[in-house]
Amino acid sequence: MAVPLRLASSRFFFPKPLHIFSFSFSFSTSSPSPPPIRVSLTDSVGRAVFATRPIPSGYLIHTAQPAVCHPSPSALHPVCYSCLSTLSQRSPFCSHHCHQRSKEYYDVEMKANWEDFDDYCRNRGLKYPFLVKRLACMIISGVAKSDSLDILQPATLTPEMIFEMEEGFTLLRNAFTKTLVSDEQIAFLTKQWYISVLARIRINAFRIELASGSYEDLLSSAFASVEAETAVGNAVYILPSFYNHDCDPNAHIIWIDSAEAKLKALRDIDEGEEMRICYIDASLNRDARRELLFRGFGFQCNCSRCLHGD
Ligand SMILES: [Zn+2]
Ligand SMILES: [Zn+2]
Repeated sequence: MAVPLRLASSRFFFPKPLHIFSFSFSFSTSSPSPPPIRVSLTDSVGRAVFATRPIPSGYLIHTAQPAVCHPSPSALHPVCYSCLSTLSQRSPFCSHHCHQRSKEYYDVEMKANWEDFDDYCRNRGLKYPFLVKRLACMIISGVAKSDSLDILQPATLTPEMIFEMEEGFTLLRNAFTKTLVSDEQIAFLTKQWYISVLARIRINAFRIELASGSYEDLLSSAFASVEAETAVGNAVYILPSFYNHDCDPNAHIIWIDSAEAKLKALRDIDEGEEMRICYIDASLNRDARRELLFRGFGFQCNCSRCLHGD
């Protein structure tokens, strides 16, 4: 997330862009023209996403593929190793395309024994180290760079968090050193790298719930268990992480049948208006929202809903 130190906010207030980032993104939108947005640095809210023209309610602003994703350890159904779509067959991949694009790092992962690392995650209820493991396999196989998440803002870590991460690092590194992976291939895998990646994942990972799977799940399972397990996985994106938070957002992210994120306008957006998403459940009351945002993302929300006590 593009979590600023303070959120001066309301949809009637447009932060003034200082300069435009010169990032190049590959957009996989069906529209031939580039998406109607720009990412700018502002003096009031840090990095932010702005509309470059009026955007109508319901418009698909852009799509985004994850930089890294991983199935949820408690997913209700088996999902594709690569795109997290629900699987109907026993293969780890939903399609030839998914197999082709991930087989290099899938093979790296399959060569190692993950028993100790996976036990460490499961016993502590940790899901984010699985994303670091996946990213490490991607780097070893040459499909990702070790600095691919550096552009994202890291969480502030306490000494206790770092202590817990050190154990995860040791187990991850051990899993690789016991395989045929060379020292050179895992030279990037230092304690500092592991902690820095996990610090970024902590506040930038999205919990993926597929819109298409939920109705079927509701019919086939007790509601209480569905509530806890509807997530098919977790993923980190680059561009979607630049959207700031608002408890009354003008944009949102949905997932239809895979980890491909779709950013949609929730209402008419003016040219130059900042676009914001809600990082948490917007139906929670003000105190619960502010508590969650502070604990999970480290900022006090000063959006107009929060300021008006809604
Ligand atoms: Zn797939
Ligand atoms: Zn708020």
